[in-house]
Amino acid sequence: MASKTKYIFVMGGVLSGLGKGIATASIAKLLQSKGYKVTAMKIDPYLNVDAGTMNPIEHGEVFVTKDGLECDQDIGNYERFLDQELTKDNYMTTGQVYASVIQRERNLEYEGKCVDPVPYTVEEITRRIKLLARKSQADFILIEIGGTVGEYQNSIYFEAARLMHLNNPRQVLFILLSYLPIPGKIGEMKTKPTQHAVRTLNSMGIQPDFVLGRATVPMDDSRKRKISITCNLNKQDIISAPDVEYIYDIPLNFEQDGLTKQILKKFKLRAKKQDLKEWQIFINKIKNSKQILNIGIIGKYFATGKFVLADSYISVIEAIKHAGWYQNCQVNLNWIDSDKYEKSPNELKELKQFDGIIVPGGFGKRGVEGKILAIGYARKNKIPFLGLCYGMQLATIEFARNVAGFKNANSTEINSKTPYPVIDILPEQKEKIKNKDYGGSMRLGDYPCVLKAKTKVQQVYKTDEIIERHRHRYEFNNKYRQELENKGLIFSGTSPDGKLVEMIELPNHPFFVACQFHPEFKSRPIHPHPLFKEFIKSCQK
Ligand code: GLN
Repeated sequence: MASKTKYIFVMGGVLSGLGKGIATASIAKLLQSKGYKVTAMKIDPYLNVDAGTMNPIEHGEVFVTKDGLECDQDIGNYERFLDQELTKDNYMTTGQVYASVIQRERNLEYEGKCVDPVPYTVEEITRRIKLLARKSQADFILIEIGGTVGEYQNSIYFEAARLMHLNNPRQVLFILLSYLPIPGKIGEMKTKPTQHAVRTLNSMGIQPDFVLGRATVPMDDSRKRKISITCNLNKQDIISAPDVEYIYDIPLNFEQDGLTKQILKKFKLRAKKQDLKEWQIFINKIKNSKQILNIGIIGKYFATGKFVLADSYISVIEAIKHAGWYQNCQVNLNWIDSDKYEKSPNELKELKQFDGIIVPGGFGKRGVEGKILAIGYARKNKIPFLGLCYGMQLATIEFARNVAGFKNANSTEINSKTPYPVIDILPEQKEKIKNKDYGGSMRLGDYPCVLKAKTKVQQVYKTDEIIERHRHRYEFNNKYRQELENKGLIFSGTSPDGKLVEMIELPNHPFFVACQFHPEFKSRPIHPHPLFKEFIKSCQK
């Protein structure tokens, strides 16, 4: 086992969707605040190698790391809480595990043995966890196992966790996040489902060191006593995890209930410092932010309802909130389905009520014309506008059609026969699509971007070169650069060789900026992203 690293497995019981990712991120944050080096890993028990090939209904947001991995949104939660950039090593899927084992089998590395999932996939899981320990040199690694205990899919991960504990009990802890329902008719918080979850975990050879009790309200003493007696735990190791108004409150709640103190005690460690002051100030700022801003997010949404939708744009939502709080305001997000403007352009007038408009990333044809209409409305009516990725491509199309007079200008993603393909696919991407080489084949992760002198974005970033994260296949088509520039579109950011357009803006407008990258991935609660900050500022005016 890598020398000094301690491993904390976070597992789920009773039901999913309880906020295991946020709980994991919060515990990581707390240990970091005690002066330790901390990182976190997410395990997704599906056969996809990464999250890039799943649609948003299946998966919610696809987060992108700096080294170009398409992964689960929890990696975004970890980055936001830890204020740290994570990498491919922080994410594991069953697809990756099996691909490695099968590759090794093909290479005869198992020397003629029969390759069973146990122990070989379990060994591969442990290898990946230890690799992260070596590379990160972290004192603590939080490892979140996706799904809930007792599922067939994730049992190899519980087995790996059990064995890591067996081999080094002093370096491994288990935390079970469970659910305590309060059934309407009974009106009392029930611990039985949690008791069952602990039993299931026990049957896999694992005794949790902590139970975090998720419920609508805080857990009372008698509930803690009950779980303590029935599940073989000390009362102080049962931590209350009630619903909160702001997710960023959760670390403070855990701290108050003594979780960090107990974790350190079990590892026989001491806090090296107490560093939650800045976080506390940030929470106070959130709670004292009173001005209300109304932002319209024009997207293509799904019939499955608002729950999925909010998940698909989680980093955008958080980035807007961070910038809002920084400017002392609460942001009301209004989800607008662009389809409706296509059907009745008359409804565009409603956009007037918003302090600002965002067109986030997206793919495919549906809803595109409505988004273009909304962008045109924001341009003409001087409503602050921020375009993200697809948002930049569609803003370019709007300008080409309605200012430069390129009738039916389009992206070849939408219409391959457009007379003015102002957005087009890169030649190397054409090759990949021809070979059906879709997985991980977009322009992904960090790329540098040079900002043009005296532009809005250069003022905003206060620097000449930035690094931002990408996830797209199409690009601005340079054939139209000169003509659009002559008509007043400013190409304010490009790749260092000048070949790829990364940012555009319009003069004589309070704020009309769009970027080919995804700035939302780099926004942090205490350090909001400059583009979002400036956008919110102009919304306030
Ligand atoms: N569909 C566009 C492309 O692939 C934009 C992608 C996005 O918004 N992430 O280039």
